[in-house]
Amino acid sequence: MRFACTLSALALFVLPCTAGEFKVGFGETDLTPEVGAGKKSVFLAGFGQNRKATTVHDPIMARAVVMADGDEKIAFVSVDVVGLFLPSVERVREKLTGFKYVLVSATHNHEGPDTLGLWGASPVQSGVDPDYLKRVEAGCAEAVKAAEKALAAATVKIGTAADPALINDNRKPVVKHDELVVLKFFEPKTDKPLGVLVQWNCHPEALDSRNTEVTADFIYYTVKQLRETQKCPVAYFTGTVGGLMTTLKLPVKDEKGKELADGTFEKSERYGRLVGQLAEKALKEAVPVTLTPFDIRTRELLVPVENNIYRLAWSFGTLNRTMYAWDGTPTPKKFVPTKEVGKPVAVKTEVGYLKLGELEVAAIPGEIYPELVLNKVENPADPGADFPNAAVEPAVYNQLKGKHRMLIGLANDELGYFIPKRQWDENAPFCYGLKKAQYGEMNSVGPEAAPVICGAFKELAKGK
Ligand SMILES: [Zn+2]
Repeated sequence: MRFACTLSALALFVLPCTAGEFKVGFGETDLTPEVGAGKKSVFLAGFGQNRKATTVHDPIMARAVVMADGDEKIAFVSVDVVGLFLPSVERVREKLTGFKYVLVSATHNHEGPDTLGLWGASPVQSGVDPDYLKRVEAGCAEAVKAAEKALAAATVKIGTAADPALINDNRKPVVKHDELVVLKFFEPKTDKPLGVLVQWNCHPEALDSRNTEVTADFIYYTVKQLRETQKCPVAYFTGTVGGLMTTLKLPVKDEKGKELADGTFEKSERYGRLVGQLAEKALKEAVPVTLTPFDIRTRELLVPVENNIYRLAWSFGTLNRTMYAWDGTPTPKKFVPTKEVGKPVAVKTEVGYLKLGELEVAAIPGEIYPELVLNKVENPADPGADFPNAAVEPAVYNQLKGKHRMLIGLANDELGYFIPKRQWDENAPFCYGLKKAQYGEMNSVGPEAAPVICGAFKELAKGK
């Protein structure tokens, strides 16, 4: 009896401690560039070169979510820019201590400052302002620190909702990843909302190629909508945007039924709010979810760069990135940097598989095609394809067999499109009897990227 009492006293002493207690915090930083007379040019990324910003419409933000399982902390942060390369991500991580894992992503905004280099005044000039890039990297770390400061005990619900009418797939075959995933966090005793994490799959380019106002595109309005209705901080993460998931040429009507034109803030706002409403629908059906323990698996690997435009941009310094010798091995014993343009080269990147309790997350370092996520690669291949006999890549979602799943794109890197190898189509004859090649390959590192990335993800998910 005495022994039992001691044990229960011990249990009482042990139980209230924080080991394993789930906490969440949200934080954000304003990273709007200065625009105007006397300021440096701000080159807007995503479409043609030399598109200089003339004014600011709405802010460019970094938004972070920190989650903790007792003392173990992980962070997700996303910025309203076109993308961030792995070296930037590494610099963000260097500014943070005490984290088991930090995921840095970008919304892939096509109406914000160039942070990669491809959209400067000319093809041989980078559009990146190094001071601004430094500010973005510091701002990501600040947003994470603010989220860490806000950590509070939480319960979580997860919901999904799909709407194919909210995506235009402008490249054949038409395969849409139209599932939105939303997580909402609550204060356990009061059910007061602590924050919303929303993940959706679309290019932020509603303002199109001629806009010169700095904006976060539709995401500004999605976040605004959800802040208004959910009454808490909101962080948006992008997902499967390859293939190509876009709002351009997507019919979007206002409340009176009038179709809104591409390149207008009316369309950007309406679309952003519709995505927000889809998240609200998902939240109505949301169910409790456990996000602990954290099982984080990441792999550094090489992806061959066969794209000659990228190789040229690298040799001119427009793309500021270390290249590595490529001998056909994605995970060599030694990563050997090289400057030899004529030889096969590769870029170092990172793939992640995260098992957060009942939620599995794929962290994919670029713009993956929906075919590669949803196991819908063309089979048989179109005879016009360049590699019709290439093996079908292992689909990302085939590896996620748990209760809940989510994909974060442009995660810790932006390597452009990951195109199913058997849908690669640069050379005549072209697929589907088309007279010219479809858009896509020019913004991919090469046809081996998808097999390498999907292969690595499969191994990570299996625990190899
Ligand atoms: Zn893109």
